[in-house]
Amino acid sequence: MTLKFYNTLTRKVEEFRPINNKEVKMFVCGPTVYDYAHIGNARTFTNFDFIAKYLRYKNYKVFYLQNITDIDDKIIKKANEEKTGWDNISRKYEKIFLEDMKLLGNDAVSKYARATDYIPEIVSQVKRLIEKGIAYKISDGYYFDLSKFREYGKLAKRTSLEEDDAVSRIDENPEKRNKGDFCLLKFSKPEEPVWHTELGDSRPGWHIEDTAITEKELGQQYDLHGGAIDLIFPHHEAEIAQMEAISGKKPFVKYWLHTGFLQFNKEKMGKSKGNFWIVRDVIKKYNKQIIRFMFLSTHYRKPLEFSEESLEQAKNSLQKLNEFMLKLENCKSKSKDNIELDELLGKAKKEFENAMDDDFETHNAITVIFGFTKEINKLIAEEKLSELDIKKIKELMLSIDKIFGILETETEIPDEISRLVDLREEARKNKNFKLADELRESIKSQGYYIDDTKGMPIIKKL
Ligand code: AMP
Repeated sequence: MTLKFYNTLTRKVEEFRPINNKEVKMFVCGPTVYDYAHIGNARTFTNFDFIAKYLRYKNYKVFYLQNITDIDDKIIKKANEEKTGWDNISRKYEKIFLEDMKLLGNDAVSKYARATDYIPEIVSQVKRLIEKGIAYKISDGYYFDLSKFREYGKLAKRTSLEEDDAVSRIDENPEKRNKGDFCLLKFSKPEEPVWHTELGDSRPGWHIEDTAITEKELGQQYDLHGGAIDLIFPHHEAEIAQMEAISGKKPFVKYWLHTGFLQFNKEKMGKSKGNFWIVRDVIKKYNKQIIRFMFLSTHYRKPLEFSEESLEQAKNSLQKLNEFMLKLENCKSKSKDNIELDELLGKAKKEFENAMDDDFETHNAITVIFGFTKEINKLIAEEKLSELDIKKIKELMLSIDKIFGILETETEIPDEISRLVDLREEARKNKNFKLADELRESIKSQGYYIDDTKGMPIIKKL
C-alpha cells in the first residue's frame, strides 16, 4: 500500500507524492516561548514526531523544520510583568521547551529556527509585497491588502474567525483597507523591542515569520506543513496569501496536515481557559512512554480527551508490551528455527505499515502490535522459538519503536545477573530452595528482581 493521508487543502485523503521524489521538506509551527508548554501543545508536537519518524521509516529523506516564535505581544507582556528583557523571557522558555521535547522523546526535528534570526528575510518579503502593490503602510505598520489576493480562504474554506481559532495578535487599526487585513511589520512603540530596518523601526508580524523562515530554508514551495487545527485560520491562510502573492507559484505547500485538540471536559485545552497541565507536571507522574502511548491511542485528527484515566489505561496497556519485551529478553528457548516465524513477522510488518499508510492510523497500528505479541506469546509458551527467531522478533519491535518510542528499551540484563538467574532455576529444579532464596537475594542486592508469576522467571529492574 502507498502512503495516503488527509490534506486539509483539498479535504481529501491523497496519495503522498513529494515534489522531489523521496525528499520531504516539512514544516510545523513551533511554540511561542513565553510560558511552559502544556500537554495539549505536546500532543501536536508528538503527533508530528510520529509522522516525521514514519516518513523516515519509509525511507524518505526528511528535512523537518520548526520555528520558534521568540518575539510576540505575549512575550513582551510577560517581560514587562517580570521587569526583564523580552529576550530573557524567550530564551528561558525556549530552553524549557527544548528540554520538554527531549523529555517526551520528540527528537525528529532537523532544525529549529528563531523568528528574530530572520529579520532581513522578513523585511525582504514585505518589500516584495509593497513592490507588487499588495502591502500598504498605515500608522502602526505594514499590512497585507486582502482584496489583492482573491484566493484568501481556500484552505479554511472561510474568511472570518471562529471560536477556536488561535489569534496571537489582534491587528486592529481603523485605517485598514479591509477588515481581515493582517499586519506584516509592526512599528515598534517606545519601550518595545525594535529592529532598525529599511522599512522603519519595527518588529515582525505573526504570519510573516513562518514564510520568511521557510522561503530561506525550504524554498518557495515545499511538501508538508503541519500544526493543530486552531492554526488553519487565520494563520495558515495568511501564510498561503503571503507566499503565493510573492512567488506567484501554487501551491505554496502541497499537503497541509492538522492535528485535533487535546481536550479536557470536551473543551480545547488552552492557556486562556486555564484548563491545562504543563508537560513538566504530567511527566513527573507518567513517563514519556505512557504519554506517547496515550497520544497514539487516538487518531491524530480526532479530539483526544485528557484524563488520569486515559493515562492509566495507557500505562496498563504498555505494561503488557513491556512484559512481552522482558519475556523475549529472558527467553531461553533452545528450539530450532521456527518455519512459521518469517510469515508471522512479514504479516505483522505489512499490517502495521497498512495501518500507518492509511492516514497514520496509529490506533490500528497498536492493535496490530498486540495481535502479533499474542501469537508470539503462544510460541514462547510452547518453546517453539530459536535464538535467531527471538532476535528477529526483537528487531521488528524495535524498528517500530524507533517511530513510536513507547518501549522500555533499557532491558538489557547484565550477563552476571542472567548467570545467577540460571543458577537459581537449577537450584529450584533440584529443590534446593535455600540456595534458590540466597540467589534471589543476591540478584536483588544488584538492583534486579525475579517475577515468577508468568510461569517462567522474568527479570526486572528494581
Ligand atoms: P503555541 O505555543 O500557543 O503557539 O502553540 C503551539 C502549538 O500547540 C500550536 O501548533 C497549537 O496549535 C498547538 N495547540 C495548542 N493547544 C492545543 C491543544 N489543546 N491540543 C493540541 N494542540 C494544541
